[in-house]
Amino acid sequence: MSLVVQKFGGTSVADPEKIKNVARKAIRAQQAGNRVVVVVSAMGHTTDVLVDLARQVSDRPHAREMDMLLSTGEQVSVALLAMAIQAMGSKAVSLTGAQIGIRTDSTHTKARIKSISTERMRRLLDEGNIVIAAGFQGIDENLNITTLGRGGSDTTAVALAAVLGADACEIYTDVDGVYTTDPRELPEARPVKRISYDEMLELASLGAGVMHNRSIEFAKKFSVPIHVRSSFTDQSGTMIVAEPETSERAVCGAALTKSEAQVTIHGLPDRPGASLAVFSAIAEHRVTVDMIVQNVGEQGKADVSFTVPHDELGVTLESVAKVAGELGATGFSHDDNVAKVSVVGLGMAKRTGVADQMFRALAKAGVNIEMITTSEIKISVLVGRDDAQKALRAVHQEFHLEETPTTVGAADATIGTAEPDAVEIVRRLQSMEELTIDDVSLDESQARVTIAGVPDVPGVAADVFEEIAAAKIFVDMIVQSFGREGRATLSFTVPQKSLAAATTIADQLARKYECRSVTSSPCVAKLSVSGVGLRSHTEVAIRMFETLAESGINVEMINTSEVRVNVVVEGQHGAVGLAALQKAFAQFRR
Ligand code: ADP
Ligand code: ASP
Ligand code: MG
Repeated sequence: MSLVVQKFGGTSVADPEKIKNVARKAIRAQQAGNRVVVVVSAMGHTTDVLVDLARQVSDRPHAREMDMLLSTGEQVSVALLAMAIQAMGSKAVSLTGAQIGIRTDSTHTKARIKSISTERMRRLLDEGNIVIAAGFQGIDENLNITTLGRGGSDTTAVALAAVLGADACEIYTDVDGVYTTDPRELPEARPVKRISYDEMLELASLGAGVMHNRSIEFAKKFSVPIHVRSSFTDQSGTMIVAEPETSERAVCGAALTKSEAQVTIHGLPDRPGASLAVFSAIAEHRVTVDMIVQNVGEQGKADVSFTVPHDELGVTLESVAKVAGELGATGFSHDDNVAKVSVVGLGMAKRTGVADQMFRALAKAGVNIEMITTSEIKISVLVGRDDAQKALRAVHQEFHLEETPTTVGAADATIGTAEPDAVEIVRRLQSMEELTIDDVSLDESQARVTIAGVPDVPGVAADVFEEIAAAKIFVDMIVQSFGREGRATLSFTVPQKSLAAATTIADQLARKYECRSVTSSPCVAKLSVSGVGLRSHTEVAIRMFETLAESGINVEMINTSEVRVNVVVEGQHGAVGLAALQKAFAQFRR
């Protein structure tokens, strides 16, 4: 008999009528011959209300008590849903995270799942019950209640689908699928039929709130196909699977986040271990750092910029003040009035000219780019908060995201994972959210160009990368750090054979824009660590910096994404760096 996991978000259980609607959907699935597990979130905005209550009694509520409080929301929904199903004449049992045996670590408010027991759920299902599981919560080894982070019910659902070997994992929500961007921000956004795990992972991490990003890490790791669909209609929605929607497009979606602030450390001594010191100090407070941009230094000093969630700006600045002083940096600054706009697509990895297209679209819309970071499948820029929506619309239009692609690749969107054998289940249970590294690699084929003192006005990045693209040069990494006194530093890597052409273009533009200098390195080494969930495992970047610092290797450029951390070092250090990283990450290899 097939097994289905259905998850209903807050809006889908916002009132008693909606709960009855969910009850009917669950019963229907059971009557169609499935064993059914339903995961529910707290009703409507309950979690927000609880967060607000906590703030009213304490400025800094303890995380343990926060979890005790927040977990109550889901407990209300599971009980009501079980009652509704029973009232309709079917059998149902509600379970909290603890009752299911969702074991997590003790990182309150953003705990990671360590294991899930399946016995009780299987027994209840065998007895003909619909099992109603509370989303978002678990229990640590000392029986403290934990929560998985806002939006974490998606992760509960996908994790249950993985351990139960479910045939389908359906995420019912208030939109009818995953859109090319948040339809609340841009009404012209289009629901996609299919999206790949890697793309969804990036989009979710870059602000597409429709799915909790950790749920996609699970889905990818355990090959769980996810069906995101509306809880208010019977229409099919979006499949999140291994394959993208089409191969004809470079970009599949865009995302916006306004909840981050930017921090820049100026004049950080450009020597091994400096970035390590900064990010370890911040990581001690478990702050998720994003958009790390380190640029090639001038006169032995480099600038490092990154973004952190607003709420964590305070503790970040405290750490930065301390370490900037210790390291002898010139100073540091922050900007809260920023927004990050990103485009994502597997198709980007194989094409030239995607970045310049995005930069040109922003320039045409009059939007100044304050920071740039790219990875194989995403480009993110930081812009002023007031320009956020205009910028999102400009890139959405530029990549024709509102139009359905003409060739949608053959659908492998069939739901159905094989029933895992007992040994496999045990293996899964032991390492639910552990870090997995797929690859540690070295690319020695590239050269670097750096333009220092680029004026911080719309259109410069567009000019640079348009000319480079016109010369048919494939740009790999682009990094622009946050400007100072109206000037920024822009670095990028190109194939070694294209260096001369790229420098000529850079020189011409540097003259046109009266930039300070153009420097280049004919041979750099790009060292990459790729895997699943690298951003939420901040320690990956830190371990990388640590390993390279121990080998006396200075990091020149950095960029990060959900699936990869890349650093550029001097060419001569490539092989030594690779060997050191392979050793450092051996224990995490798949
Ligand atoms: P639930 O309570 O069901 O988990 P959420 O509010 O967490 O629902 O997620 C659904 C919301 O995510 C949508 O209402 C939409 O505004 C927002 N969203 C953000 N980005 C996207 C996107 N790319 N596609 C669809 N919805 C998105
Ligand atoms: N109720 C929790 C939240 O609002 C979890 C969830 O909805 O997924 O974040
Ligand atoms: Mg959600």
